[in-house]
Amino acid sequence: APIDGRPLTIDGLGKAFGGNQALRGVTLSAQPGQVTALIGPNGSGKTTTLNMVCGFYRPDSGRIHLGDKEIQGSIPYRVARAGVARTFQTPNIPDEVSVLEAVASGRYSTARSSMAATVLRLPGFRRVRAADRAESMRALELVGMAHLAGETASALPLGMRRLLEVARAVVARPQVLLLDEVASGLDEDEVERLADIIRGLRDAGATVVLVEHNFRLVLSLADRIVVLAQGEVIADGAPAEIEHDPRVLGEYLGV
Ligand code: ADP
Repeated sequence: APIDGRPLTIDGLGKAFGGNQALRGVTLSAQPGQVTALIGPNGSGKTTTLNMVCGFYRPDSGRIHLGDKEIQGSIPYRVARAGVARTFQTPNIPDEVSVLEAVASGRYSTARSSMAATVLRLPGFRRVRAADRAESMRALELVGMAHLAGETASALPLGMRRLLEVARAVVARPQVLLLDEVASGLDEDEVERLADIIRGLRDAGATVVLVEHNFRLVLSLADRIVVLAQGEVIADGAPAEIEHDPRVLGEYLGV
């Protein structure tokens, strides 16, 4: 496979913020060549889980492995170097940066920093190096935005900015791709395009973790679904099993 995906294994992850126990022993794994969806109501711990994989937060307990490498507690830069890329819920693009420059900034990304922080840290980001340019154009082609390379990124509609955020994650050639609510605010055509892109990355061998509210999208994309509620995994299985799980339906109807 073109992408050398690694299994991501999370074992017994615990995290409290003050007196608020956000995660209570979360255990799950995501395999290369699969989309693993992480779903659950607001506040159930999805983003906190992603943030700990990226090295944004340090877990109170538990282990995270990328392949056989232990990564919990690593700084974001090292996690990114180890091959983990993520998108952010709100694409944060500085004014006057071209689409190409915004994507190229993903080559210098850490898993923590927003697009704005990375672009602004680039030395002479207006002169994207040739190697980065070629790689960035490939990532833009993947999301169907190559023809927009010279446009001002911040002026694009939300759907395009989200696809740009995906291209920016992909350009780092991640082994593990963490997608945080990438479909929210997109119209149906854009969601379909996004779904095709995610399938393409999966089929290329990436380990894809998808945090997503759109249950229909999750059912159409996921090879495996992990359901969180109040910081605990309450269900974990194939879409056909999860779809009819009364606990899962209960959580969703309760939202
Ligand atoms: P989800 O992504 O599923 O909506 P989160 O992971 O954002 O859930 O939140 C899980 C719990 O942790 C919530 O109770 C939330 O308020 C709390 N939490 C998340 N991040 C922080 C933080 N930086 N400081 C304090 N509490 C936090």
